[in-house]
Order: sequence, then structure tokens, then C-alpha cells
Amino acid sequence: RTIVLLFTRDLRVHDNPMLASACAVAERVVPLFVVDPAIRASPPRRRFLAESLADLRESLRRLGGDLLVREGAPAEVVAKVAAEAGTRQVALTSDVSAYAKAREKSLRDHGLEVRTFPGVTVVPAGKVLPSTGGDHYKVFTPYWRAWEAAPWRDPSEAPASIRLPDGFTGDDPRKVLGAAKTSPLMPGGEQAAQDRLDDWAPRSADYADLHDALAVDGTSRLSPYLHFGCVSPLALATDPRVPSAFVRQLCWRDFYHQVLAAFPKLATEAYRPNADDDWADDPEALEKWKAGETGVEVVDAGMRQLLAEGWMHNRARMITASYLTKTLGLDWRAGAAWFAERLLDADVANNCGNWQWTAGTGNDSKPYRRFNPVRQQARFDPDGDYVRRWLG
Ligand code: FAD
Repeated sequence: RTIVLLFTRDLRVHDNPMLASACAVAERVVPLFVVDPAIRASPPRRRFLAESLADLRESLRRLGGDLLVREGAPAEVVAKVAAEAGTRQVALTSDVSAYAKAREKSLRDHGLEVRTFPGVTVVPAGKVLPSTGGDHYKVFTPYWRAWEAAPWRDPSEAPASIRLPDGFTGDDPRKVLGAAKTSPLMPGGEQAAQDRLDDWAPRSADYADLHDALAVDGTSRLSPYLHFGCVSPLALATDPRVPSAFVRQLCWRDFYHQVLAAFPKLATEAYRPNADDDWADDPEALEKWKAGETGVEVVDAGMRQLLAEGWMHNRARMITASYLTKTLGLDWRAGAAWFAERLLDADVANNCGNWQWTAGTGNDSKPYRRFNPVRQQARFDPDGDYVRRWLG
């Protein structure tokens, strides 16, 4: 029995239920990643992905396997590889975005037998449901209580060994994706995620007090690794070294994934009916915001951090998003699109869920909330260190 392992947002060998389960039942497997040219990605994001795939490939090779990296429409590529391997069976980690659901459907439409596994979130979307009815939680705090009380799956062991069908060899991801210069701050890959966690976890006790301080940079910076699945969210949430305030943030991530699963239009439509205001049309103001040239210090600092690092502090994300939507009155979709293009960690659930929260169009949000950037700066960057770091 041969199974194609279609890697997606699960680029790891540890606690990867898709990999573990398939390897437990198949004599031979074909680990595959498909680069879909329809997905636009900034050069830093392609770089992060290429490094994550290279690291995954190394791990699979150590187990006796390899990783195929092909470019094209995912279902077509998978169907071709499956036919070459003489199988119709595909293993896939379940995901909730409209893109992921369409991909899964397309695989089935190509005559493939698809089995899905958990792993993108701690608790699968739809697993905990409100007792009052409905297909998802709209408010965070009750979701959090139910999430904490829910039974979590057992972690999966990495397979002991992997065998490819005869004649199959892997591909160098950097050849497919291009080899951009690495970032010492956030190199891609499961090993890099582990290094980052081992570096951060021992000094995470102050997280609850410091995670909002812009200049301290006291958060984990694990978000790109979580996005690409270089680290298991379940492994993080059950790591005895991390504080409960951090686990609560992981719950926010699950929360937005279950919102997206139930409301696939989260990226394009206001979640709250009739919440879409008349947004202003001011392309010049939008460009200045993107370039970090609004003239408002803390907003510009955040936007320049995004340009330089492909990452932005959460507090700065809230301030810059509120400035765009509430001060400039521009459409949250334009802001979310820019974040999606530049952030290494961008994903539909977290990005659009948070944009809608800030813009006041989302679930569980206060429509009239507006962050005053001057007061935010005084509170979260009192000595001006963050602003100086990015504005010089
Ligand atoms: P930590 O504070 O160390 O938190 C650990 C993990 O918890 C994060 O890696 C992340 O996976 C999760 N998390 C933390 N805060 C949130 C949150 N508010 N919502 C959902 N999950 C959270 N996060 C993304 O992963 N991708 C996005 O595209 C994204 N877009 C955002 C857009 C806006 C406008 C805002 C306000 C927030 C956005 N966030 C997004 C959430 C948050 O800013 C980042 O997850 C966080 O800054 C990542 O840094 P960290 O890993 O150091 O976080």
C-alpha cells in the first residue's frame, strides 16, 4: 500500500498526525509539497517557505525518505504523482480556509481518496461548539473556557522510518522557490522553530506583563513557524515551560480558525451584518501608511518593522490597523491585503479575524473602539525606544 503525503501547513515530522498515521499503515509513502503559483508570496515569505521545506526534506531523508517539491495546480500535481506511484490514496492535514477546502474538493474531484488529519490548530475547528447552539463560538471568553476543558488529542510520534516507492527521488526546494538571502532573525524550518522555542521558553515567565511592551520584544515570535506548521500548536500548548497567558494566545489562534471554518467569507465580507461602512477612497494615504510615512511616529515605526522584518509586534499591528480604519477611514481589506503580502505569518484566519476585530466589523469586537496612537505610544513605548529603533 502506497500513500501520497500532501504536506501543506504542517511542515514538521514531530507531532504530525498526517505523517504518523499514514506511515503507520502504508509500506511506502510519497511526501510531496506543491507550490501553487496562484498564491502570491513576497520574497521573504518564499524564502521562509523554502527554508522550511529544506529542513523538512533533511528530516525525511534522515528517516530514509525524501520530499518531492513540484510547482502547479495542487490537485493536478497530486493526481500525476499518485498515478506514477500507482495509488489513489492521499493523506492531508485538514485546514479551514476557502482555499484549503477548495483544494480538498478538487483532490476528490480528481478521483483521489483523501484522508484528513488534525494538526493545524490545538483543537480542530468545530470540535467545541456552544451549548446554546450554532456551528461556532462568536465570543472569545466562552470559547476559551470550552477549549481548555475539551479533550485534546494525544501527541503523535515521529515515524521511525520512511520508504519511498522505487524510482522516486526528492527535489531541492530552493531550486523550485528560488534561494533568497536568509534572515538570521527568523530562519524557516522545524529545527529553527525548536531553537526559537528553546531560547524563548526559559525567559517567558514575564510574558503576561511584557507582551504588550513594544520595545521589549518579549513575545515568542513563533507565529511564522505556527503558520507553516514548523511547530505543532498542540506541542506548544502542552509545553510545561510556557506560561498560561501564552497558551491563551494560542487559543485566540484556534478561535479565529473556527470562525473562518464557519464563515469562509471572513477575508472579503464583514462578519457583523451591515457593519461595512462607507470607506474612504484615498490611494495616497494608503501608500503612505504602507511605506511608514504617515507622520505618526508609532504607526510609522510599526509599518517599517513590517517592511524590514516581515513581522510586526501585536500591539503595533493593533495601532496601525486602527489608524488605517478608524483615523484614515480606509477599508480594512486594503490593510489586510498589505499585511498578507508582507507578513511571514499571514494567514486568513488570524489576519482577517484581527483586522475585522480592529475595524469593528468582526465578531466579538467593539465597533467604536479606536486606538489613539499618541496615548498608545505613551503607554506601550514610554521611553520611545521602539519608535527610535525604526525611525532612527
Ligand atoms: P505571541 O505573543 O508569542 O503569541 C503566540 C502565538 O499566539 C502567536 O504566534 C499566534 O499564533 C497566536 N496569537 C497571538 N495573538 C493572536 C491574536 N490576536 N490572534 C490570533 N492568534 C494570536 N497573527 C498571525 O499569526 N497571522 C496574521 O496574519 C496576523 N495578522 C494580524 C493582523 C492584525 C491587524 C492584528 C491586530 C493581529 C494579527 N495577528 C496575526 C495576531 C498577532 O499580532 C500575531 O499572532 C503575533 O503578533 C505574533 O507574534 P508572536 O508569535 O511573537 O506572538
